[in-house]
Amino acid sequence: MTPPQGEVKRTRALVLPPDPRCGYRAVMPKSDDTPLMQQWRDAKSRHPDALVFFRVGDFYEMFCEDAEEGARLLGLTLTSRNNGGAAHVPLAGVPARARDEYIERLIRLGRRVAICEQVEDPAEAKGIVRREVTETVTPGALLADTLLADRRNNFLVALSDAGAGRLAIAAADISTGEVIALEVAETALEAELARLEPAELLLPVSWEGREWPAGTPVRTLRPDWLFEADAAADELRRRYRVHGLAGFGFQPEDRACIGALGALVAYLAEVQPGALAALRAPHIERSGAAMALDEMTRRNLELVEPLRADTGRGSRAATLIDVIDETLTAMGGRLLRRWVLRPLLSPEQIWARQDAVAELLEDAPRRRSLRTALKEIRDLERLAAKVGAARAQPRDLDTLRAALERLPAVRDALVDVRAPLLTAIASLDTLGDVHALLAGGLADAPEAAAGGGGVIRDGYDAALDELRALRDGAQDTIAQLQSQERTRTGISSLKVGYNKVFGYFIEVTRANADRVPADYERKQTLANAERYVTPELKAWEQKVLTAEERIASLEVRLFTELRQQVAERTVRLQQTADHVADLDVLCALAHLAERRDYVRPEVHTGYALEIRAGRHPVVETMMPREAFIPNDVVLDEEQRIMILTGPNMAGKSTLLRQVGLIQLLAQIGSFVPAGRARLPVCDRIFTRVGASDDLVRGQSTFMVEMHETAAILHNATRASLVLLDEIGRGTATYDGVSIAWAVTEHLHETTGAKTIFATHYHELTQLSELLGALVNFNVAVREAGHDIVFLHHLQPGGADRSYGIEVGRLAGLPASVVARAREILHELEGVHGGAGAGLGRTGAGAPPAARDQLSLFQQPEPAALERLRRLDVDRLTPIQALTILAELRDMVDATARRTTPDPGNR
Ligand code: ADP
Ligand code: MG
Repeated sequence: MTPPQGEVKRTRALVLPPDPRCGYRAVMPKSDDTPLMQQWRDAKSRHPDALVFFRVGDFYEMFCEDAEEGARLLGLTLTSRNNGGAAHVPLAGVPARARDEYIERLIRLGRRVAICEQVEDPAEAKGIVRREVTETVTPGALLADTLLADRRNNFLVALSDAGAGRLAIAAADISTGEVIALEVAETALEAELARLEPAELLLPVSWEGREWPAGTPVRTLRPDWLFEADAAADELRRRYRVHGLAGFGFQPEDRACIGALGALVAYLAEVQPGALAALRAPHIERSGAAMALDEMTRRNLELVEPLRADTGRGSRAATLIDVIDETLTAMGGRLLRRWVLRPLLSPEQIWARQDAVAELLEDAPRRRSLRTALKEIRDLERLAAKVGAARAQPRDLDTLRAALERLPAVRDALVDVRAPLLTAIASLDTLGDVHALLAGGLADAPEAAAGGGGVIRDGYDAALDELRALRDGAQDTIAQLQSQERTRTGISSLKVGYNKVFGYFIEVTRANADRVPADYERKQTLANAERYVTPELKAWEQKVLTAEERIASLEVRLFTELRQQVAERTVRLQQTADHVADLDVLCALAHLAERRDYVRPEVHTGYALEIRAGRHPVVETMMPREAFIPNDVVLDEEQRIMILTGPNMAGKSTLLRQVGLIQLLAQIGSFVPAGRARLPVCDRIFTRVGASDDLVRGQSTFMVEMHETAAILHNATRASLVLLDEIGRGTATYDGVSIAWAVTEHLHETTGAKTIFATHYHELTQLSELLGALVNFNVAVREAGHDIVFLHHLQPGGADRSYGIEVGRLAGLPASVVARAREILHELEGVHGGAGAGLGRTGAGAPPAARDQLSLFQQPEPAALERLRRLDVDRLTPIQALTILAELRDMVDATARRTTPDPGNR
């Protein structure tokens, strides 16, 4: 596949209709501008939404509104510049060498920067130097290493309407060359964006007014026609230099995808034309191949980002990826992250990954030699993209050479592998020709930039070797010349020297001046000496003095050619990079399994989930080995729903997430932290964990909770795993418990999903009497006087007390407050102590005093029941029926309804 091509001359912005919403507007010259300001205004008019970094000598200057904004954002001094006559314009500048630092800061603030370079040599310019915007740095179009995170992609994502409630998504990471296109239901957009983590969104301008949730990245608008399939298809054919798009796997119904992709490529051609050459053929993701992880689940399971950045104890909260990422290359790290955010749905694919991991786990020597080789391979994927975009510097090629050097070792270490995924990798292209090119052309430990003379290897180019010999031979030649001239003239004090003004000379003391030969030409007279040149010396000088310059320009040319030769093999480099990244991840998972003692789960197509001695992959790493208490969890046809109760800090949330993480790990093909596990393939994993920081997102906690709960109820199926942690907490107790109750009923009766529901509403434990496939479990604690000991052990039955006061005491509530709380609790228990226990008091060995809560869902008054039973309904008149109804209600009303005060949760 031919990589797409950038235009040589960039006129795109000019042919677009000037639409200020898209960042275009007409040029507005001011008649009294100086030529420099006219030039600036021209650049600015084409990039009004960017800060223009305008190169003037050793500085990038910002003018007018840019100067004001730039000075504010970057803390620069705002000055002014004369703009002819008495007029002045605001000015702020940054030194050219520090450019990237400033750009980085602006990008992090969500701004974009158009870099306007001097595109002709000032020495040769007639009048003012010509300047052009050569690239626009935007959050989604980044190439600088300093701005990119090693282990995550930096996607630019374009969206377009596909009709019928569907959207097309196109994504490109120009730092790696990856291009993806897919179509999703509008409702799944959030989940897909959560997975792709775009740095910038590209949208049709008609979407201008749409609302986006907080945290949505920078949005860039472009004219709608760019997103239309026909225009977009033309764009793609032109950029990729293909006749049709069917070769990419596009179907006739993929018009919206083509639209989004075409707009994306057109935009990249506008902002980073050089990068187009490294773009790979688009990969079309068909739905159904991967599990969609909604943002809530991704956040709550802390897959790649912690819920709270810091744990309050100063240590950084760890995420799943922090713990399981044993990859050795950055590209492997990115791939693992993608696997985590895109679990598989096909059991065959899961088994295939498991087979490969198992084989690498069993064969430790093979794994060790692979990992030794992988360590040196580095980021082949980004190196390939850099070479393809002609941005690779000598040291990048050096790194590439070192990486390629290890490829044969990788292939050798894969001899006789059995797992199909590994045999596919074993056939990798080791790129011997590319390595030979680099090994032959590139000097060892090359200088940072071509032109200094230390980049191209000796013996690579005869002309370069000769120039170098000339330059390096200067000292020898001088010594030789000096002794030759001394002999010839008989002047033993004769010296050959050099100064900047006169170049090479022969110096003779005044006393010996009359002995110089006739071909000596006087050049300079000093106090005690005369300086001369000879024709021979002049000719030689000419060669030596230009050698450095010629070396520099020749070296730049040779380096560029070398890079170009490598660039022609970009596609092969990228394919090998894919194989190596796959291998790195598979080896990493094997290494992880060994290091953390994970087992291969039996993944099956049935319903039951059975985890024996399961552990939380992240929490277990935060405590000494053996300190983490493993637990068994079984969810099958007989017990689909587990109601999990237990005091705060018992370990409910940990257990809940542990099940979700184990299931997710299994579906990415990883082994799992358990003694043994049999796991189904889930179509979705839903988690709703009562998190307090949702207020930040501007909605009330309860609204958010209900919103997400609704989404779960609408989308969960029998094949889903639903993990609910304290839903209903955001509202008054009665409401909360009622909602929790109804949700549970719905999941049990209608959805049939495997569910774990952690709750402090003990009332829910009563549901086990009513719902056949619901079981109660609690996380055990032991009381020791006023202290409680958390056993973190899961046991059947509901919990009996909330132990809230004890937890408060452990957390450091003042002793007086704790004592008062005990008093109040005692009073409350005294008042209601005689009330009957609710239906759900199935807790094994519940202490008799554990009557801290009165059930909302009490058994109806026995007397009322008795009365009902005795009724002969057939003989009642309507009036009688009403009277009895009122009577019954009064009987039931007499029962106090109350629950304990909310014990709160972490
Ligand atoms: P809950 O949700 O019941 O309030 P958490 O799940 O938040 O409790 O757990 C509280 C703390 O208990 C965790 O931070 C962890 O340190 C510890 N913990 C939880 N489960 C276990 C376990 N199985 N083994 C050891 N420690 C655990
Ligand atoms: Mg909890």
